[in-house]
Amino acid sequence: MNISIKGLNKVYPNGHHALKNISMEIPTGMFGLLGPNGAGKSTLMRILVAMLEPSSGEVNIFGYDLSKQRKEVRRILGYLPQDFRFFAKYKTNEFLDYAARLSGMYNGRQRKEAVDAMLENVGLYEARDRYANKLSGGMKRRLGIAQALIHHPKLIIVDEPTTGLDPEERIRFRNLLSEISEQDVTIILSTHIVGDISSTCKNMALMNKGKVSFFGSPEEMLKHAEGKVWRIKISGDQLQEVDKRYPVISTIPSGTGWEVQVVADEVTGFNAEQIPPTLEHAYVYYMENDLNLWINN
Ligand code: ADP
Repeated sequence: MNISIKGLNKVYPNGHHALKNISMEIPTGMFGLLGPNGAGKSTLMRILVAMLEPSSGEVNIFGYDLSKQRKEVRRILGYLPQDFRFFAKYKTNEFLDYAARLSGMYNGRQRKEAVDAMLENVGLYEARDRYANKLSGGMKRRLGIAQALIHHPKLIIVDEPTTGLDPEERIRFRNLLSEISEQDVTIILSTHIVGDISSTCKNMALMNKGKVSFFGSPEEMLKHAEGKVWRIKISGDQLQEVDKRYPVISTIPSGTGWEVQVVADEVTGFNAEQIPPTLEHAYVYYMENDLNLWINN
């Protein structure tokens, strides 16, 4: 296994228990960490990149024990944090050149070649003379991934990379990550957007309130929601009642009434039919079940 996490806990100094006994084995390729805000994704990512110490537990990355071999781990790792910022004084190519120097590329000619190749790779060669902080959101994200990749890491960790991007930029960025993951690199992608995972990741974990509530492939997660998604046709005055009884995913006007999609084990008392789930439905189903468990405990 590439990355092995065993019994990981993180309690912040204020007493908040952000990770609760997390264990998982992350295989090669693109791995998605999905969960709502506050689930503990960033906490886990920051531990994996050795920026934060866990309270207990073990992490092994490509054979290195994270608690004892931080330097070795950092050398094989690239990181794109959620709030990545660029220094105003750097142009795009200067910034990447700086990142390359930091990662230990001291030969000027080799560095220039590596920087130019990387700019091509992420589609920023034409923008190389523009100031980095003036680039569009999508371009900034691509420059962020370029700096994480410049020293050819075996593992790349990307925290919420598509937040704030428009749909076109989001698709372009996902495609870029997919291409990179085909070059024998493992990518861990944390996101609260289901579409980021469904279109790119072979394996995934669902996190909620500091715990892993699902681990497997997106197809397996989808299977869990089979038979749990319903389309209900109702008149206008029944909408409130449906909303009270079931988690509503979508509401579309239909004739004089509504067509409502809900997730539930069973629907009674309405004109309802089962429909095939999407990953988005499965996500809602898991979150609702977690919520019920939490309320009942
Ligand atoms: P996510 O990335 O999934 O949104 P985080 O890992 O950022 O989740 O946060 C998990 C939980 O830990 C949240 O409830 C958050 O408020 C809390 N948290 C994060 N950082 C700190 C901190 N430095 N001190 C105390 N609590 C924190």
